[in-house]
This record gives sequence, C-alpha cells and structure tokens, in this order.
Amino acid sequence: MLRETAATPAFEAIPEADCDESRRQFINHAGRGLLAVSVAGTLPVAAAKAQAAASAAQAPATGPTDVKLPPLNAPTEPQSAGPPNPDPVDQRVGFALVGLGHLTLEELLPAFAHCKHAKPVALVSGDADKMGKIARQYGIKPSSCYSYQTYDQLKNNPEVEVIYIVLPNSMHAEFTVRGAQAGKHILCEKPMANSVKECEEMIAACKKAGKKLMIAYRIQYEPLNRMAQKMVRDKTYGPTKLIEMVNTQNQAHDNQWRHKKALAGGGALPDIGLYCLNTTRFLLGEEPTEVSASIYSTPGDARFKEVEENVSFRLRFPSGVMASCVTGYGSFNSKAYTVHAETGSIRMDPAFTYHGLHQERVHAPGGKELKETPGGDEKNQFALEMDHMAECVRQNKTPYTPGEEGLQDQRIMEAIYQSAKENKPVKLDNVRKIDAFRGTPPTDEA
Ligand code: NAD
Repeated sequence: MLRETAATPAFEAIPEADCDESRRQFINHAGRGLLAVSVAGTLPVAAAKAQAAASAAQAPATGPTDVKLPPLNAPTEPQSAGPPNPDPVDQRVGFALVGLGHLTLEELLPAFAHCKHAKPVALVSGDADKMGKIARQYGIKPSSCYSYQTYDQLKNNPEVEVIYIVLPNSMHAEFTVRGAQAGKHILCEKPMANSVKECEEMIAACKKAGKKLMIAYRIQYEPLNRMAQKMVRDKTYGPTKLIEMVNTQNQAHDNQWRHKKALAGGGALPDIGLYCLNTTRFLLGEEPTEVSASIYSTPGDARFKEVEENVSFRLRFPSGVMASCVTGYGSFNSKAYTVHAETGSIRMDPAFTYHGLHQERVHAPGGKELKETPGGDEKNQFALEMDHMAECVRQNKTPYTPGEEGLQDQRIMEAIYQSAKENKPVKLDNVRKIDAFRGTPPTDEA
C-alpha cells in the first residue's frame, strides 16, 4: 500500500499488515459513528460522507480506478499532467531486488515511487544488517528478505513475480538461471553477462522455465532517446550518414569489482561503452556488419591492471551508416551523441545520465539555421523500464529488450576486443531484419 508523506511528495511504501490494520481501524471507527446517529434517526452530511468513504474502502479492488481532477489553470496556461493513476497496489507486479549496492539503493528502490505497475516486495543481499534497514525503509516484510544462499526459496514466495538482478556482471548468469528455476521472470542489469556462452545459457534457462527475460537497457525506454529514434527511423532530416557517441567517466581509485576482470568481464567497454553500442543499434534498428577497434590503458595505473581504460570502436551498418564510439574509465564525465543526417543533426548531451537529459536538433529550413529543443516533463527511466517489464508479465508480451538483445551486444563486444587484439576489422553476421532482437515496444505512458 502507498501513502503520501508530509515530508516528500513521493510515495512511501508501508507494510501490508500495517495497512490492513489502519484500514480496519478506519472502517470500525466510521462504522461505530454511523450506528450512533442512525439510532437517533438522522444522518448528518459528515456522517453520510463517512459512510460513503467507508463503503468505498470496503469495496472490492476491481474496475477502473482512474481519478481525474478539474483544471487548475486557464487553458492558455501550461497544464499539469494530472494524477499518475497507478494500478491498485494489490494488482501491481511484485519485484525482488537482488544486490543492495549503488544502483538499487540510489535509483531503483526510489524509482518504484514513480511506477504504475511494479512494486518492491522482496530483497536479496549478503549483508543482513543493511537489508534489515532497507526493508524497513521500503516496507518489505522480514520474511521476504533472503541471502544469496536462501535465494532459491523465492520460489515459495507468491508475492514475487519478477527478480531484478543488480549484482556484479559475473553473477548475472548464475542468478538468472537460479531465478528462472525458482519459477520467476527475470529483469537483469546490463551487461547481460561476461560471455556469449553465459548469455545463451540464461536465455535457455528462462525459455525452459517458460519465464520472461529482459535486459535493463533503460535508454531504450527513455522518452528523449525514443524521440531521437523516431526521427532517425522516420528520416525526419533525411537518411542518417554518421553517428558519434562518447561515454567516459573517471573511476575512483578504490579496490572495486569493476576493475577485476573475473567480476566485471572487462573495463570501460562492457560497463559504459555498451551504451554507445546499444544506443547506436537502438537508433538505427540495424545490426553492424563490421567492427574495428583500438584499446589503450595508462601504464602503471592500478585501476587498469586487469581491465581496459579506453576503447575506440567503429561500426559499419548495412545502410552505409558509420558510427564512431569512444569510451573511457579515466577521463572526465562525458555522455553524449550526435546523429548526423543529410539535412540536420540530432544531439543528445547528456544522453546517458540518469537525469537532466537534453536534446538539440539543428537544421536549416528555408536556408536559415534553426536550433530546436523539445520540452516536456522528465520521466524516471528506471520506473519506465520496470513498468515495461511488469506490463509484459501482465499482458504476456516479449520485453522490448529481451535476452537476445543482450546476447547480440555481447557478440559485438567480443568482436570489438578481437579487432583491437588483432589490429584489424572483424566481420559480423549479416543481419538484415530491422529490430531483429527486440520484442514488443513500450507503450508511451503519460
Ligand atoms: P555496486 O558495487 O554498487 O553493488 C553491487 C552489489 O553486489 C553490492 O551490494 C555488493 O555487496 C553485492 N555483491 C555481491 N557479491 C559481490 C562480490 N563478489 N563482489 C562485489 N560485490 C558483490 O554495483 P552497482 O553500481 O549497483 O552495479 C550493479 C549492476 O548494475 C552491474 O551489473 C552494473 O553494470 C549495473 N548498473 C547499471 C546501471 C544502469 O544505469 N542501468 C547503472 C549502474 C550499474
């Protein structure tokens, strides 16, 4: 159940048990008051309202629950979007979050406040103390908290329909396979895994269990990037010719798993360079037929003893588009791209951050340069992504970014490493179908 708090306009989850208790108390109190005035033979307006509210509170949770509010401002003023109208809480899809690190605590759990179809109902962590605190913050029952060893017991928890895997990359395959065997749908963080073989095993395990597998490519659910994709596909500025992408950040010098090959699979490429690769494929819908790449790591930098610092890679597509991508773990934060089409360009800067994305289009209608920036309220990318997974579960659809999408990126990343190692271009299978590895597109939510 969700309630609004005074401190924040966001919603705060409270345990079902508490909620049932407060609902029971409310109904009891309202009911007793009504009995008293009924005996006196009159029903004041306030009591009638209380009766109506009590009846509504007791009504079964079926039928439409959309609430509309009258307009606040004149039609010439900017209008609010209205209430978000999420699904009734007992009808939302329950998620178990596995791994309580930066992404889960800083982005995913808070993002559920913006979800309409998904809710957090279980946690999995190796740190029981931290998990207990987080469980209390988000109203998750102690009986729905698991360790990595008791993870398989999720099969006995009917509240959990989706397991969201947010662990170091090397653990994605094992926890996906075990999760599918526990009879749950899987949403897995990017990169899907550390090898093509692991990706194939994850897809096979979910297929065998009859469960859905989605890779958490949030950019493919983010409205401004989706707008850019539509313009590219619609050829708004004519055919696309060139794409440039960059994703860099300067990593902390601590002993983190991202710098260990066995846990991370690689360095900048699978972690952040993947955004350049996946977003280029997403914009075009085409698959590259050739890659060429080079890699460089600063000698003596302890962070890059096992994994690479910088990767520069080029992709060739069947339509003739060439994409040029750079990614690095040792240079200042830059996360942007430009699509160069025949009569205009689309620039996203930043393109891959969690918040504050910005798009600028430049073209010259009538010979005069025009710069346009689309407006609109920012949407929480993680909420959109989790809601898409929930909708796919409820409506039995294939996610837009299924396991096959992650597998294709993994194939291309392995070719990028090979090209850099052999210092020559590497050919890829010629895939002619558009959106060959994607499922049902997300609905455009208000
Ligand atoms: P993190 O290091 O902050 O958290 C990882 C969690 O895994 C921690 O709670 C840690 O205790 C746990 N863990 C379990 N076994 C571990 C082990 N052997 N070594 C290290 N940690 C272990 O990492 P994160 O930033 O939350 O990333 C988790 C996953 O999410 C990664 O796959 C990453 O690529 C992905 N990610 C995605 C996005 C995105 O925007 N989609 C952003 C950040 C991270």
